[in-house]
Amino acid sequence: MGPAQQPTYPDPVAVDAAVSRLRTQPPLVFAGECDELTEKIGAVARGEAFLLQGGDCAETFAGVTADNVRNKLRVILQMAVVLTYAASVPVVKVGRLAGQYAKPRSSDFETRGSGDHEVTLPAYRGDAVNGFEFTPEARAHDPQRLVDVYNASAATLNLVRAFVTGGYADLRQVHAWNTDFVKESAAGQQYEAMANDIERALTFMQAIGADPDEFHRVDFHSSHEALVLEYEHAMTRIDSRTQAPYDVSGHFVWIGERTRQLDGAHVELLSHIKNPIGVKLGPTTTPDDALALAEKLNPHNIPGRLTFITRFGAGRIRDGLPTLIEKVTAAGVQVAWVCDPMHGNTFEASSGYKTRRFDDVIDEVQGFFDVHRSLGTWPGGVHVELTGDDVTECVGGGELLDEAGLADRYESVCDPRLNRVQSLELAFLVAKMLRA
Ligand code: PEP
Ligand code: MN
Repeated sequence: MGPAQQPTYPDPVAVDAAVSRLRTQPPLVFAGECDELTEKIGAVARGEAFLLQGGDCAETFAGVTADNVRNKLRVILQMAVVLTYAASVPVVKVGRLAGQYAKPRSSDFETRGSGDHEVTLPAYRGDAVNGFEFTPEARAHDPQRLVDVYNASAATLNLVRAFVTGGYADLRQVHAWNTDFVKESAAGQQYEAMANDIERALTFMQAIGADPDEFHRVDFHSSHEALVLEYEHAMTRIDSRTQAPYDVSGHFVWIGERTRQLDGAHVELLSHIKNPIGVKLGPTTTPDDALALAEKLNPHNIPGRLTFITRFGAGRIRDGLPTLIEKVTAAGVQVAWVCDPMHGNTFEASSGYKTRRFDDVIDEVQGFFDVHRSLGTWPGGVHVELTGDDVTECVGGGELLDEAGLADRYESVCDPRLNRVQSLELAFLVAKMLRA
């Protein structure tokens, strides 16, 4: 059997053409930037910083617009400021963006309709592989899309870099980020009060002549699941400075729950690159699995190199996580523990929409904190699927979105994301857990 979750391309010549094209493209990120992120995640592993990783389940090519990217960035900046201010910990900011275009699927096929009208087509695997539209043409696997991923990622990262260094991320903008619908929500009001405090502190700092660079820009990093091997491999380069290989398609890449087999191709590839990397760990992960992954992926036990992103589900985390953390900690393994409270809590609403309950998401994060607190280990961060828009994909939260409301604005092409208000609410709740 070949590597898991790979596209099946009909034409090997077209694959070669796409791969050679990718090989000649300039890097999207620099090796030095990846090393800096490893350092920062090292602080997370030591319990000195908190990781905030968020963005779409699946980015789309159509979603590469200035508004969309800015909105996503804005909500992450707001969340980061809430966490930093309310909990007084440095926050490492990582977007699930500029490369998050490939999706693992539980089934290779999707069937729609019934009886004589039943149609079965290849499942949508993300814009990196095929189109979302339910037609045979769109659903065919096309390697040219890998080149499109590169271009879409370059455009997104260019915008992000301009936003975070060009004044948009200046702390003086803390009020300006809280615009339109979010401002009216309870979380928005809470944010407004906090922004007033920050504003006062900034004015004070300015009056005494302190104006550090950190007030004017933020460090922001890109990340995605390293899924399509042709793409990640073609984007792996030897760094001229250190002679070490880096996957220059993003700062941080992770291995999904479905591709983390110890002897699998994804683990093998990521074991050879020097980027900071993550592995998703679901509820079936044994301590031995985790230890073997750590040994293979971080043999020198460098803090910040490896992040374990647990995604157990709200109902299983309190029972399942303690043994895993205990054994990994007892073995002296350096790892940043991050909670993905989304992927273990997905269910299908009666209307057919894939959704998640806001309360389950919060409950899993609370369970994550409870377990770490009781073991004396550090709850290092959260990994969430979110958008900067007012979508209706997850139920609950302060706006009390119910299942019937899902149809209003369900835009995700894959998993349900927290909308902007829900994301801000989550940030305030996590800040409270961090303070406790
Ligand atoms: C995802 O992050 O979108 C995903 C598919 O997660 P997991 O590998 O944890 O299922
Ligand atoms: Mn997802």
